[in-house]
Amino acid sequence: MAEQNFPTGNLMAGKRGLIMGVANKNSIAWAIARQLAAQGAELAFTYQGEKLLRRVKPLAESVMPKGSNGEPILCDCDVTNDQQMEATFHTLKEEWGKIDFLVHAIAFAGKDQLAGSFIDNTTRDGFKSALDISAYSFVDAGRRAAAIMNDGGAMVTLTYLGSERVIPNYNVMGVAKAALEASTRYMAADLGPRQIRVNAISAGPIKTLAAAGIGSGRHMFRFNKAASAMQDNTDPMGVAGAALYLLSDLGLSCTGETHHVDGGFHAIGMPQEGPLRESMPD
Ligand code: NAP
Repeated sequence: MAEQNFPTGNLMAGKRGLIMGVANKNSIAWAIARQLAAQGAELAFTYQGEKLLRRVKPLAESVMPKGSNGEPILCDCDVTNDQQMEATFHTLKEEWGKIDFLVHAIAFAGKDQLAGSFIDNTTRDGFKSALDISAYSFVDAGRRAAAIMNDGGAMVTLTYLGSERVIPNYNVMGVAKAALEASTRYMAADLGPRQIRVNAISAGPIKTLAAAGIGSGRHMFRFNKAASAMQDNTDPMGVAGAALYLLSDLGLSCTGETHHVDGGFHAIGMPQEGPLRESMPD
């Protein structure tokens, strides 16, 4: 992601929350973290293993509130590991007592599951791990977060249009995202009486590590640019802005929603011929 200035303000002042899914500077979770911090939020992060800690720690330090001289809260957390999940939320309870929001930006499917024929290439184990890491982890993290969340808090997860429509090579991840979006609605219903809101952001393609794992990525970016209403690729800042809206009090009364931030790609039935021709010359 190019260096960008996220709008500053106090929309998240006094709010504390957990960001799950920063792998590097290009991660969508990192754009969201920067936007929330620019509006006064205090953030804790998860990472997976020592190698990732080396990358995530300096990022976490860079968004610590001005004047704070402590260490950022960083939790080693593979979402398939119950002990690590337990320890992560235990740490938050010990350090902060309560939290106000959760950002879940985690997905995984084996590379062999993300190419070619869905029906032929999806294995039982591939299906289970994609659904476990990419969908169940939000339910699990959401339940643990809700136990220590102030009433009036909010949760956001990241999804993609492959849940609603067929996207070549997205395959089992599309099925996992459909489960994630349905989980979002059920979680919203369960937590609604406590005024805790649960929403999903359906982002258009953005160049990250996770996106690089999907076959025919270049074609996907070119096609999205040509066929979206705005004829451009999705800006991570727009996704971060949507997360700010949904996680702050601006998002009051909005829950159980899948909000598209994709330059209007989802709204188009048939793309304009001109840009499409330019992107795919005969
Ligand atoms: P990213 O930077 O690669 O982030 C994916 C994150 O998931 C990484 O931090 C990764 O950690 C983490 N993860 C994977 N398996 C995990 C596990 N078992 N336990 C804990 N963490 C795990 O890619 P991203 O594009 O920002 O992805 C964030 C979310 O946005 C995903 O849900 C993705 O599906 C969604 N999304 C992305 C796009 C896009 O075009 N990029 C579009 C729509 C939605 P490790 O690196 O340590 O594995």
